[in-house]
Amino acid sequence: MQCSHCGLCCTETEMLLTKEDIKRIEKKGFHKKYFLKIDKEGYAQLKNRNGCCVFYNSENHQCNIYNDKPSGCEVYPVILDEDVGIIIDDLCPKQATIHIDEKNEKGKNVIKLLKTIDEEAKTRR
Ligand code: SF4
Ligand code: SF4
Repeated sequence: MQCSHCGLCCTETEMLLTKEDIKRIEKKGFHKKYFLKIDKEGYAQLKNRNGCCVFYNSENHQCNIYNDKPSGCEVYPVILDEDVGIIIDDLCPKQATIHIDEKNEKGKNVIKLLKTIDEEAKTRR
């Protein structure tokens, strides 16, 4: 896809994290307290600051951990709609630039990812 780096998907993020994502980000030198919150269901999520993900750089409109960003950010804007299945999020202004093959490939990863995230959340309850 041709991401325009508009930052919409980094605004008021609710991005879920896997344990692997958390470890990878910690290795970059960020403390969990800075970027991680756990909700009451045990799900790990990115924190926001001033309305955006803590890693969003509003000056250059880039992700500060671009090469190590969470797997959910990697597959975005392909997401799972509980009622419809794998879709391309219509919030993304570049949704039309995603090829069907990319959607299908990322869609498989979304399913695996959500399974892992659900299993990991259970271990925190
Ligand atoms: S909303 Fe779409 S175009 Fe904008 S930064 Fe996210 S992926 Fe890129
Ligand atoms: S980690 Fe990066 S890509 Fe993901 S929501 Fe935060 S700023 Fe955006």
